[in-house]
Amino acid sequence: MSIIALEYHDVVAGADWDSSGFPGEAAASYKLSDVVFMAQLDVLSESGRRVGADVHAALADPEVPHVLLTFDDGGASALTVIGPALASRGWRAHLFVPTDRIGTPGFVTVEGLRNLQRAGHVIGSHSATHPTRMSRLSAAALRAEWRGSIALLEDILGERVTVASVPGGYYSRPVAEAASEAGVRALFTSEPVTAIETVASCAVIGRFTLRRWHSARYAASLAGRRSFARYGQWIGWSAKKLLKRTAGDAYLRWRAATFERASR
Ligand SMILES: [Zn+2]
Repeated sequence: MSIIALEYHDVVAGADWDSSGFPGEAAASYKLSDVVFMAQLDVLSESGRRVGADVHAALADPEVPHVLLTFDDGGASALTVIGPALASRGWRAHLFVPTDRIGTPGFVTVEGLRNLQRAGHVIGSHSATHPTRMSRLSAAALRAEWRGSIALLEDILGERVTVASVPGGYYSRPVAEAASEAGVRALFTSEPVTAIETVASCAVIGRFTLRRWHSARYAASLAGRRSFARYGQWIGWSAKKLLKRTAGDAYLRWRAATFERASR
């Protein structure tokens, strides 16, 4: 349990949720306000763990307890809020980008990615198209998602890209095998576990997710030594996984309907 990885998405000022990342109410429930985010960083700095290291450094240093900070979806707030907030503390963000979105409204640009790289942050793939169910893709489609997105990022950044995260939490072993083949050495999932698995040449690392309503205290609890918050996420995730497996399309329809109701 030496690595606890936290999964964030966008961080926005005020309640302008659609200003960064994917639009809509379902996506917004994964976005944090900048005020709450800064408060979370404050409590994490007091967690007794090393916060904000590069994942490869953390994997090479298993005796030291780490908190890794990861951000999915490549929203524009990576450059305006997240990058500067972490850099001012000497921490690194792992920023995972669905490469088809680069330069589109609400998402980071090519120049923005280069600026984030220069500031010391780690840029990785979040697939090319952000498919709804990554684990359902054929082997060829999985290869195309990882290889295409990584080739593009390497072209932009001028260096090897060895980290990635799985979109939508739809993880399976073939997803990791295809990522490994594409050069990924650290793959983050959304499974709320601290055990790290190795698939081919790739370390598969679970993450604990922060949602819009989570307080600084909750973030502190996720990073704690014995954590009911981590256990709670695991219970919730296990139930949801069962539902996804048994209900499939019905689960996605229910989720969409629930968020539509909530946003009315
Ligand atoms: Zn995503």
